[in-house]
Amino acid sequence: MMHLVELRDLGRSFTLGGETVEALRGINLEIKRGEFVALVGASGSGKSTLMNILGCLDAPTAGTYLFAGQDVSALGQDALAELRRRHFGFVFQRYHLLNSLSAVSNVELPAIYNGVSKSRRQARAERLLAQLGLEDRLHHRPMEMSGGQQQRVSIARALMNGGEIILADEPTGSLDSINGAIVLDHLKTLHVEGHTIVMVTHDMGVARHADRIVEIRDGQIVSDRRNVATVTHPSPGLVDLAGEAGFLTSFLRRTSEAARIAFRSIAAHRLRSALTLLGIVVGIMSLAAVIGLGEGGQAIVLDQINRLGANSISIFPGTGWDDRNAGNVDTLTPDDAAALAEQSYINSVSPQAWDTGQLTFESTTVDGLINGVSNAYFDIAQLPLTQGNRFTGGENRALQEAIIDNNIRRTLFGNSRSPIGEILFVKDVPFVIVGAIGELGGSLGQDKRPQVFIPHISMISRISGSQRLPEIVVRINESVGTDVGEKAVIAFLEKRHGTRDFFTYNSDGIRRSIEKTTRTLSMLLGSVGAVTLLVGGIGVMNIMLVTITERTNEIGLRMAVGARTSDIMLQFLIETLAITIMGGCAGVALAFGLSALIHSIGTPIPMVISWHAVSVGCVMAIVVGAVFGFLPAKKAARLKPIDALSRD
Ligand code: ADP
Ligand code: MG
Repeated sequence: MMHLVELRDLGRSFTLGGETVEALRGINLEIKRGEFVALVGASGSGKSTLMNILGCLDAPTAGTYLFAGQDVSALGQDALAELRRRHFGFVFQRYHLLNSLSAVSNVELPAIYNGVSKSRRQARAERLLAQLGLEDRLHHRPMEMSGGQQQRVSIARALMNGGEIILADEPTGSLDSINGAIVLDHLKTLHVEGHTIVMVTHDMGVARHADRIVEIRDGQIVSDRRNVATVTHPSPGLVDLAGEAGFLTSFLRRTSEAARIAFRSIAAHRLRSALTLLGIVVGIMSLAAVIGLGEGGQAIVLDQINRLGANSISIFPGTGWDDRNAGNVDTLTPDDAAALAEQSYINSVSPQAWDTGQLTFESTTVDGLINGVSNAYFDIAQLPLTQGNRFTGGENRALQEAIIDNNIRRTLFGNSRSPIGEILFVKDVPFVIVGAIGELGGSLGQDKRPQVFIPHISMISRISGSQRLPEIVVRINESVGTDVGEKAVIAFLEKRHGTRDFFTYNSDGIRRSIEKTTRTLSMLLGSVGAVTLLVGGIGVMNIMLVTITERTNEIGLRMAVGARTSDIMLQFLIETLAITIMGGCAGVALAFGLSALIHSIGTPIPMVISWHAVSVGCVMAIVVGAVFGFLPAKKAARLKPIDALSRD
């Protein structure tokens, strides 16, 4: 008959500070199914080391361990975890229960990693606890129970996945004699039911309850004897929950369980989690805010440019904005405007001359901007009249008619009085108000002074006295296109003037350059947000590393009861992600708040928190969580079960 456990020439040495300790040497041992074996020996003789190797929590440094005929050294981490999960139940001297979980949840633990459903797990855990006389302690936490009760909880946990082989390391070592006897009785009952039991003890009084006593001294077996006439009980088909769920179901259940663990851990350290979150919150908020400001600013600038009108071109005298001699160039004239208007590719043309001066109505005077334009200007600049009409004389007559903006209407006429038909003095020249347009000022780069529009011929003859035009605005036919139109305008005027003494500006070009500028600005500000986020992410990673150090024992226990490396990774990755995603949501919410605040203060650049900003914020939170959660999660998953467990 094949032995359940077979050790051949097994050895285990530890190297500590250059010194090698041979904890086990030349161990040959066979254990049959259904045996109750006691490993006895003095403290430091190597019992626990042997036990840990038997339970696949540790690996030998020499010899062979065959479990059910299979060489265990050939198995990887996850296969070993599966072996532990399906065949072994551990009972430790110090119980190793998780203090944050109730008795039932502690008992359920091994079944989680088997993918058993919550309801089945719970029912089985409750039944096992009841069998061990703990039916009235189901929802107590370890701290609320006596040592004897805690040890019975850990026996129930060992049985959760069937507990074919129960490995008990000094199970009575921390208990008084009465509780010790109770625990021993339970182990004997389990033996009778068919479980294989290996129990470590230094107490011969405890060992004599076993069928077989193996004595270890200085890492070697010195005796191996039957205790009484041994009855080896046939296995009565132990309940085995392993393999119950399919891979996907099991994976989903384990993932949701990992998420529950993660959230419970966050909830258990609320202040710490909140402080950790802070860096992410600020990072995501600034990122979303920066994107919002960028988009808000761009929207405003584009709005301004769109007012210039689509397909519009401005023509200025001189060679460029930096031409200091431009003021002396007087070749750009109303005649040019009239000639351009004849061209087939041109939709409309308006001269634009400007001046500043006092605008007076009755006894009130304001400083304002005076524009000399033609009727076409209101089309090109897309300024619809809100009241009255355009200049009755059109292009050609120097009528003293004025169109005012809303600013003048408000300051000089108030809300109730209609300005139409009233006389406005422009630099002491009387003009009849014939129309009004809407609000002009208030946005970026726009002159906030009140503005009045008069026919450009009146401007020349009554206000400025000069034929010279500082600007001509042109609207190209849509079918032609702005770029082609611009070239045609340049060619036409160059021929007319005989020289290139003017320059043009194309609204599309301005739009492009402004879009580029705001994009650069956004990127610059965005990188500030990114740096904040980076620092926040490092903070999260730091805290997660601390958390893992604190919870090394928990990780060890989870691995002992059969958690895969992926289960451990998932648990900590989800914990980090949960923190960063919560931080991201809070950051986006704060960005919305900030935008509302900015709106209520009324700054010139609004903050537009668009879906773009929100999604960038959320994606960044996830990326930061995944990037900075990976290292801690990897570190946790790499722990060796025995190292993690024994770190007290
Ligand atoms: P027992 O359980 O019989 O009291 P152990 O198996 O715990 O004894 O230890 C056996 C020997 O191995 C002791 O000398 C102990 O110091 C040594 N030992 C056990 N674990 C380690 C370890 N992780 N690192 C170094 N030495 C160890
Ligand atoms: Mg020990």
